[in-house]
Amino acid sequence: MFSEAALVLVGDELLSGRTRDVNLYRFSGLLAEMGIPVVLARVVRDVPSEISAAVEESLAGGRVLIVTGGMGPTDDDVTVRAVADTFDLSLFRSPAAEEMVREKQQEYGLGMPMSALKQADIPIGATPVLNPSGIAPGIVLPAGGGIIICLPGVPVESSALLMPCLKVAGVQPGKGTQTRFIRTWGLKENDLFDSLRSLASRHDVVPAFLPSPGRVDIKVVGARSHGFCGDVIEKLGLHVYSSIRDETLEEALGRRLISSRLTLATAESCTGGGMGSGITAVPGASCWYVGGVICYSNDMKTGLLGVREKTLKTYGAVSEQTALEMARGVRRITGADCSLSVTGIAGPDGGTDEKPVGTVWTAVCCGEFEEAFLWRLGGDRESIREGACARGLGTLFELLS
Ligand code: ATP
Ligand code: MG
Repeated sequence: MFSEAALVLVGDELLSGRTRDVNLYRFSGLLAEMGIPVVLARVVRDVPSEISAAVEESLAGGRVLIVTGGMGPTDDDVTVRAVADTFDLSLFRSPAAEEMVREKQQEYGLGMPMSALKQADIPIGATPVLNPSGIAPGIVLPAGGGIIICLPGVPVESSALLMPCLKVAGVQPGKGTQTRFIRTWGLKENDLFDSLRSLASRHDVVPAFLPSPGRVDIKVVGARSHGFCGDVIEKLGLHVYSSIRDETLEEALGRRLISSRLTLATAESCTGGGMGSGITAVPGASCWYVGGVICYSNDMKTGLLGVREKTLKTYGAVSEQTALEMARGVRRITGADCSLSVTGIAGPDGGTDEKPVGTVWTAVCCGEFEEAFLWRLGGDRESIREGACARGLGTLFELLS
């Protein structure tokens, strides 16, 4: 049975910086959890000789090799031909693959151009697998002492095809390694690392810290992860918003609001709608999110939200008082039960000694509760803006917990 996997990602666009890889990112986690860790990944151009070399090298030792990209109907899609050439196999028009292509072309109302049939040409000895989310079938080919699985590059297609192809390949998930996630907001990666160091050594685990602005995920692998995670959750308290791998802070907050039967509105300045965007990405957010306003100029803050001119003059737009008046204002005009506001200096210009770039105030109103919070955030404009969103959402999550 196979105990290791390798990946070859095909595409000029991955090497020129036009496309950010998703397939390695997704598959490496999934395969590790199935007990078939990815031990090698190569990114190559749409050049047959380079694809062949990478396939040969990556298969060494009898691995499961997953090749993504370059499976489409156009001339620049050369992956299948290159894989076949690596093992001196010719291509043949597979009736099963042709049926899959025809079925999908029809389903998408695309007619049946001759070029589409290229996707039904597969190496001798290969098995096609129906693509649930696109046209080009996945291809499973035992070769070179291992097994090769060719998938389209488009991430929704490759993700949908991975498990069916593994099944056709006869790859049984091993016992797998237990992987647990703890998702935190408002803590810095270095601080987390320091504060969890002794817990990690006591439980004999090596946690991975996966930071994004304002949020850090902690990933732990292995049987001992259970005890460690329990202790971490206790130690970090309400900075932990979820232990479900894919649950976002916005979703976790939504759950809290639903169970408290409360609605939310937002007033954003420096984040320009980032909070609202994250919230509305959650399916069903309309049950608990009434809406938000972006009040960037002082005039908008006074005119729409009722922030007092005196407040702006005395304390400035980035201040505790302004943040509070923004939150009060948006709650008043929307009638929501709770409100969040954010105002800050995202840079790169606009900082002063007193209020350097990264100074952010968030405010929460909920029932009788009204409070503003000061944050000193680092990083570039984008990470300050994203970090500010996480802080705003996190404070309400904490309050409702
Ligand atoms: P198509 O039939 O759409 O041409 P394909 O299998 O030939 O599919 P590609 O042409 O290589 O795949 O890529 C199709 C799209 O998927 C492109 O937009 C490409 O940027 C994207 N893509 C390819 N590989 C990856 C990857 N590893 N991560 C994220 N996106 C990818
Ligand atoms: Mg293509």
